[in-house]
Formats: sequence, C-alpha cells, structure tokens
Amino acid sequence: MDIEKVYKDSGALLEGHFILSSGNHSRFYLQSAKVLEQPQTAEMLAKALAEEIRASGIHIDTVVAPALGGILAGYELARALGVRSLFVERKEGKMELRRGFEISQGEKILICEDIITTGGSAMEAMEIITQLGGEVVAFGALANRGFCKRVGSQGEAKSNCKLPCGVSFFALGDFEFEIYSPEDCSMCKEGSIAIKPGSRNA
Ligand code: ZN
Repeated sequence: MDIEKVYKDSGALLEGHFILSSGNHSRFYLQSAKVLEQPQTAEMLAKALAEEIRASGIHIDTVVAPALGGILAGYELARALGVRSLFVERKEGKMELRRGFEISQGEKILICEDIITTGGSAMEAMEIITQLGGEVVAFGALANRGFCKRVGSQGEAKSNCKLPCGVSFFALGDFEFEIYSPEDCSMCKEGSIAIKPGSRNA
C-alpha cells in the first residue's frame, strides 16, 4: 500500500507553506477528510488496515472512533472487520459515549482515528471506554504522523506520543514532515506567507 500516493491522488496531501495547529510551519499538510471523500478509496484503505489487524491475531469486538475526524475511518474499518462501529464525542469539552451506544464489560475495543498525530483524542476515548468497562486492545489509523510507533515500523515513539506503549497501534504508513518554528522558517525568510489550509478561501 503506497499510502503517500493514495493521499496525493486524493488531494489529501497538500504541498506549500502551512501553519499547523501547533503554530509551527510546514511544507506539507494532511487534509485527511479528503482521502475519505471517495467511499471506494475509504473502503480500500479500511480493508488493508483490517488485514493487518487480522494478521496480528488480536480479537476485536467493536471499533470506537473519536468524533468527528475518526467516524468515517472507524465505520469503514468496522465494516471491513465485520464488527460494531460506535463513536464518542465531546460534550462541553469532555469525551462521552452518547446516543444510546453501550459497551459491555470486557468488550474488546479498537480505537480508530483517520490520522494519529500525538494520539491525544484517542487517549481520551480510551479513558472513557475503560471507565465504561471496555478493554482497549488496539489503536488504528489510516495514517501515522510519525510521533507514535505503529506495528511494523522500525522507528521509536517520540516523547510527545500519548499512546500507551503496551497497546498495539496499526496504521498504513507514516507521514514524517519537517516542522519549523515561525522564527526559524526558511520559507518565511524568503518572504512567503504561511496559510492555514482550513481558511484558504476565507
Ligand atoms: Zn513559515
């Protein structure tokens, strides 16, 4: 699976001069929702991810996604695995399981995101699932931003990865970009103006 090509072809991998949510600058920006714009692409990616998870032998009862970013990826992954698909969402800043969704005691849960950066939302989802009696046995994402260590990659997790090291993390590939502080950005020094991709046409 050439995940970089799939993202590029979907228009989900942008090249330019961008302001990341951290405030740092980068030549690249992942617009992950774009890769799920074509349901056929979403299905293909989820099937590939499901294959890796199956090959690991880890049993999954249910996929849980943190809203909003993880919902489509989680739903497609659940379909590919033949299991239930739930999502957790924020209410007044706190992650909750709502809408009549229920978790059984000891239910084996995979937390799914479209992309894992440091894994903050995935960890918040794990906390609420654990409180409700579920057992988080794996994390999954279509893409890994390179801070956390996915199953099959050689690198080590960076210090800002929030995922617990004892739980497997599956993803189809790594996107490791150089990031620059605004004061130390060569593109800024050349007079280029960084943009926030979400507000390009605003
Ligand atoms: Zn810059």
